[in-house]
Amino acid sequence: LLDARNLHKSYGDKPVLRGVDLSIRPGQVKAMLGPSGSGKSTILRLINLLERADQGSIEIDGQRVGLVGKPGAERPAPERVLAKQRLAVGTVFQQFNLFPHLNATRNVMSGLTTVRNVSPKDAEERAVMMLEEVGLGAHVHKYPSELSGGQQQRVAIARALVMEPKLMLFDEPTSALDPELVGEVLRVMEGLARGGMTMLVVTHETRFARRVADEVVLFDGGVIVEQQEPDGFFENPQNERTKEFLRHVH
Ligand code: ATP
Ligand code: MG
Repeated sequence: LLDARNLHKSYGDKPVLRGVDLSIRPGQVKAMLGPSGSGKSTILRLINLLERADQGSIEIDGQRVGLVGKPGAERPAPERVLAKQRLAVGTVFQQFNLFPHLNATRNVMSGLTTVRNVSPKDAEERAVMMLEEVGLGAHVHKYPSELSGGQQQRVAIARALVMEPKLMLFDEPTSALDPELVGEVLRVMEGLARGGMTMLVVTHETRFARRVADEVVLFDGGVIVEQQEPDGFFENPQNERTKEFLRHVH
């Protein structure tokens, strides 16, 4: 469903991605681990078209995104095309990024009415259903300031899901949460995974990665260092850097 090839990205003269190949099959869940500053968020920002790669290609569901034109004569896609292509991907960030002046329902329905042209009545119905699915049926009228961090993050997940993305990206979704609130967010993500959603999850939660992911990736130094199924990744890592990394997180 996702096929990224040879992604390169530098900021100024500082290379951050040095040729990243990453693919995800439909329904597959990949967890990405890696040290701070290694470029994990940058990969996600290229996949959801918030930024452009210097080099390389991204296909989502068989469609090349971010560029238009014939091979060899591609040019950056115009904003109107990017906006359409972005709909295929839902993103949940570390900071929940909710609209503070809108209640939970309005936060979730905002994309439907503004981008998808869904009527307010339908949008509200779908938003409430989605909030119920993430366990917030009792809080649909509350404002972000009236919700805990875990609840706010679940609103953010509902807001992404209601757009019916093909791929969900999570960028350290529990890193800003108090420890006692991490579990409720991970449970929602696990439910999504079991329900067949295709997911790429950047996380420091190794236990979640081990239990839920189909494959675990270590990203470091601008490249994918190791990639294998969870038991092998954690029990029998092939790369010295993976061993070193795991010594620090365990
Ligand atoms: P963390 O675990 O801390 O979230 P990360 O792996 O997500 O780290 P990125 O945020 O992708 O890392 O950043 C990779 C490198 O690129 C860092 O050195 C960062 O300072 C740099 N960087 C990221 N975005 C920009 C930008 N817009 N302009 C300049 N440098 C940037
Ligand atoms: Mg990051």
